[in-house]
Amino acid sequence: LVVGDFKTFKEDVIAAFDSVRKDGSGEITTYIPGLSTYDTNKWSVSFCSVDGQVVALGDYKDTFTLQSVTKPILYGIMCDAVGTDTVHRYVGKEPSGFGFNKIVLGYGDVPHNPLINIGAITVASLVLPDESISDRFEFCYSKYKDLACNMSPGGISFNNVVYLSEKHNGHRNYAIGHYLLNKGCIDASSTGRLMEILELYFQLCSIEVDTRTVAAMGATLANGGKNVFTGEEVLSKNTVQNMLSLMYSCGMYDYSGEWSFEIGLPAKSGVSGVIMVILPNLGSLAMWSPPLDHYGNSVRGLGFTRNLLSRFKNDTAHQS
Ligand code: GLU
Repeated sequence: LVVGDFKTFKEDVIAAFDSVRKDGSGEITTYIPGLSTYDTNKWSVSFCSVDGQVVALGDYKDTFTLQSVTKPILYGIMCDAVGTDTVHRYVGKEPSGFGFNKIVLGYGDVPHNPLINIGAITVASLVLPDESISDRFEFCYSKYKDLACNMSPGGISFNNVVYLSEKHNGHRNYAIGHYLLNKGCIDASSTGRLMEILELYFQLCSIEVDTRTVAAMGATLANGGKNVFTGEEVLSKNTVQNMLSLMYSCGMYDYSGEWSFEIGLPAKSGVSGVIMVILPNLGSLAMWSPPLDHYGNSVRGLGFTRNLLSRFKNDTAHQS
């Protein structure tokens, strides 16, 4: 077993989970109205190991949308589909130093990285450009399902309310799209094609999951791209390595440097209050609590991770 003393590990996860339960600080996302109705008390953590050991705590039956956690997944899918070099002709590998929705390009007039809006929209433009919009969504969605293997009854689905809300209110993302078009960063000969690209991006942000599903997806990444339940290779090992590198350097908004310094693990957060943390070769932690800090990261999620890690510092008792 990867986590030898699972009982003690679980107790630590529960203690860390309880340590932040009462911390109701932070603000809920309001710029996407479909996300503004969450209950601030919602709090869930799930863990899934690379050999399928699972912990699910709190509101683990509640669902929420992936939001930015979709970005490394879309990036990985496209690296395998068209090649890493091709993807990186359109998008860089550098932390941007700017907010996730900043309208700015990096050196060589390409988006800094695929984990910010401008980069993810660019990557979305590479998805099966000659196929129908339904084929494009299905191509991506089927990979998301394979990553998660429908581990939980909630599984994985699509939140149409959030999608429509993003589509109706995502003015910033429309501006980003037009800027990309203007700078020749995406291959879209018409505004109609640009709208299709943005719609795919909004759809992939609106994939609905619970923390068990996110932990299962993360465990597949921790397992080098092989689904921990089916053994199927969903993403190649090289691609997963690249995804984790970018999550390590760019995954936590403008807190990414602090996070890698303090926590030192690849992670990605989203404005719905989700955080997916990868423990390579071990498993994945998924957290969800809607109130966000100044940077856009879940307050409880950050507090939980710090607390859990403090229990393992200089500690060999948990090792099998
Ligand atoms: N759908 C959100 C947007 O484009 C994703 C933002 C995020 O989670 O960082 O604004």
